Amino acid sequence: MTYPDSNGYFGIFGGMFVPETLVNALTELEEAYNYFLHHDTMQNQLNELLHHYAGRPTPLYFAQRLSKQTGVQLYFKREDLLHTGAHKLNNTLGQGLLTQFMGKKRIIAETGAGQHGVATATVAALLGLECTIYMGQVDIERQMPNVKRMKLLGAEVIPVTSGSQTLKDAINEALRDWVRNVKTTHYLLGSVSGPHPFPTIVRDFQKVIGSETKQQFQALYGTLPDYCVACVGGGSNAAGFFYDFIGSTVGCIGVEAAGKGLFPGGHCASLTLGTPGILHGSLSYLLQTSDGQVMDVYSISAGLDYPGVGPEHSFWKESNAVHYVTCTDEQALKACITLTQTEGIIPALESSHALGYILCNSQKFNGSNVIINLSGRGDKDLDTILKEVKL
Ligand SMILES: *Cc1c(COP(=O)(O)O)cnc(C)c1O
Repeated sequence: MTYPDSNGYFGIFGGMFVPETLVNALTELEEAYNYFLHHDTMQNQLNELLHHYAGRPTPLYFAQRLSKQTGVQLYFKREDLLHTGAHKLNNTLGQGLLTQFMGKKRIIAETGAGQHGVATATVAALLGLECTIYMGQVDIERQMPNVKRMKLLGAEVIPVTSGSQTLKDAINEALRDWVRNVKTTHYLLGSVSGPHPFPTIVRDFQKVIGSETKQQFQALYGTLPDYCVACVGGGSNAAGFFYDFIGSTVGCIGVEAAGKGLFPGGHCASLTLGTPGILHGSLSYLLQTSDGQVMDVYSISAGLDYPGVGPEHSFWKESNAVHYVTCTDEQALKACITLTQTEGIIPALESSHALGYILCNSQKFNGSNVIINLSGRGDKDLDTILKEVKL
C-alpha cells in the first residue's frame, strides 16, 4: 500500500479541507501533476536543472573530527551546498516546471525563514514567471538579507501583519490570493503541509535527498546507515530524506524545535505535544488550545516556527515508522557552534536542531552510523547566532 490514498489521506491524516473555490484548483493540480510525473520531457528537464543548475547530487560528507569527538560515526547530507543554500530549491524547481506545464504565468508563495521565498523567486527568475511572496512582518525583520534577495530576484514581497506575523499568517494570505487569482496563478507551497495534493507533490520533489543518500552510503559501504536524522518544521526536508528508508532497518528520527522549553508558547513541537486538528487545509498534529484555537509557537529559527506539520509525519508518528524528538534553542545553538568550529561548516539553525539532538544523546548513538540531513547553510542566521554567543 502506498500513501496517500486516492482522497489524499495518510491513514486518518491529510485530506482537502478547503473552500469550494479551491477544490477545482486542487483537482486540476492533481491531474496535471500525474501527467507531469509520467511526462519524459518534463522529467528530463527537471533532472537537467537539478544537476546543472542546482548542483545535484549533493555530497554525503563523513565528519571525521566530530565523529572522533562524539563517538558517533557522523555523516552529513549536504543540502546546504545546493544553489540558494537549502533543500527548498528541489521543490521550487519541480513546482516551477509544473506551473509552466499547466500554462500558468504567475506564482505566489508563503515564506518563514525567507528560504522558500528565495528559492521561489529564484525559479521565477529562471523560468520567467511573475512572483509574489507573502511573509510575516516579524520574519521580515529577522530575515532581512533574504527579503533583499527576493526583491533583487524580481519578486514582490508583501508583509503580513495579521496574527503572530509569522509563517502561518503568511500561508493564510497566500491562500486568499490563490482563491482570487486561481486561473492565472499557481500557489507554490513550500512544505509537505496544506491540502492534498501538496503533501505528496512536495514530498516527491524532495525524495531525491533520501534516494541519493541511500545510493551514496551503499556505494561506500554496501549497507544501510543505522540512523537518519532531520529537523522538522513543516516537514519537507525530513520527509524527502526519510521516504526511501521507511520500513527498512534504518531508524528515522525527526527533531522538532523545543524553543525555550516545552511550555505553551515556548516551542513548536507539534508532533511531540500537539493533538490532531485542521490547519491550512489538512488534518494533522497541531498545537492548539483545548477549544481548538491555534497556539502561538516559538523557535529561534524562523524555518521551524510553525504550529502544524505535514500529515504524512502524523501518520509516521502513529505507525511508529519515524521517532520524533525535540531540541531546544540553546542545544541547537551549541550544535551550530560545534559544527562550525570542528568541521568548518556553518549550518542553518534549523538543521542545527538535528545535530543538537544527537550531540545531547551521543552516548545512545555510540558507534552507530548516523546521517544528519544538513538542510541548509547558516549565513542567513549569522546575526541571530552572534547575538546569543560570545566569541
Ligand atoms: C525551511 C527550512 C526548514 C524547515 O522546513 P521543512 O519543511 O521542515 O524542511 C529546515 N531547514 C532549512 C534550512 C530551511 O530553510
